[in-house]
Amino acid sequence: MIADSLPTFLVHPSPTPVPETERAQLLADPGFGRVFTDHMVTIRYSESRGWHDPEVRQRGPIALDPAAAVLHYAQEIFEGLKAYRGADGGVLMFQPAANARRFQLSAARLAMPILPEALFVEALEQLVRIDAAWIPDGDGSLYLRPFMFATEVFLGVKPSSEYLFVVIASPVGSYFKGKAKPLSVWVSDEYARAAPGGTGAAKCGGNYAASLLPQAEAIRHECDQVVFLDAKERRWVEELGGMNIFFVFEDGSVRTPPLGGTILPGITRSAIITLARARGLEVREEAYSIEQWREDAASKRLREVFACGTAAVVAAIGQVRSREGDFIVGDGQEGQLTGSLRAELADIQRGRSGDPHGWRHPVT
Ligand SMILES: *Cc1c(COP(=O)(O)O)cnc(C)c1O
Repeated sequence: MIADSLPTFLVHPSPTPVPETERAQLLADPGFGRVFTDHMVTIRYSESRGWHDPEVRQRGPIALDPAAAVLHYAQEIFEGLKAYRGADGGVLMFQPAANARRFQLSAARLAMPILPEALFVEALEQLVRIDAAWIPDGDGSLYLRPFMFATEVFLGVKPSSEYLFVVIASPVGSYFKGKAKPLSVWVSDEYARAAPGGTGAAKCGGNYAASLLPQAEAIRHECDQVVFLDAKERRWVEELGGMNIFFVFEDGSVRTPPLGGTILPGITRSAIITLARARGLEVREEAYSIEQWREDAASKRLREVFACGTAAVVAAIGQVRSREGDFIVGDGQEGQLTGSLRAELADIQRGRSGDPHGWRHPVT
């Protein structure tokens, strides 16, 4: 590919799209990540040809050689973002260029090739355009999942020389069933999500594989999610399995753990920091320990805690459980700032308010 010109996407519309009535049924209650649209986008990469053969085609299985590198050494990265049906009927994405840049950083960490930002965004637009009928109305959205994996047929341990980039799309309702009910979290003292120098800041499937056991432990303790502490001291709160975390204090100040290689730089996290600062709130990106969390919850100095990420947007955390005992944040219910930040962000994402920070990306 030449630096400034995008290759032409070959578009092969599906000969057998899901009939409209069936689609309407699926869209009525899609849940999360179980319903998929008619198409996918694929772009190939090889060391000799670079990025080539971008295609929009019928969604379907991908044939892989059993020796494909990803199946052995997990060279895989992904992204997640949403397309919304805007208030005026147009289709909007939220900051796709930010996802493109993060995808590049993840690729660099996993020794994978860098997909140009414009090609990443064009792939998303192509899919959203051809599958626009799959964007649910109301509270729903179309979750977009770009990902890339190593396809070279070779069992040697080295970066693959071939990759496939794919985008699929899944209409979703709200992430957590049972709506605004605050989350309960289990503090994992045995397992860490990320270590200094590791892949914690990259969005790679391997991080998730490692979080599944602690997540299962959280569920065994009747919690919705696991919260991870730092790997070194097992003391500093880092994030959830797939969401960043914020603390709100009685003086109105807000705190979130600083990025430093072990925390995934969430795009929602960054948006929340911007929105809170625009309200004049003090936001500190500062380490916060589990002991302090427990103490501040007991003294009621801590008023609200919430998690945030693309899938759930903003979700209150009401209860914390750990081997050292359980505690409640505030009255265990969603706090005022949590609810109002979620509403403000959702209004921007869905085109129901202005876009003071230039975050919306119109597609149609
Ligand atoms: C994707 C992800 C997040 C949230 O990032 P967003 O860009 O806000 O969706 C947080 N933590 C982890 C570990 C993630 O993988």
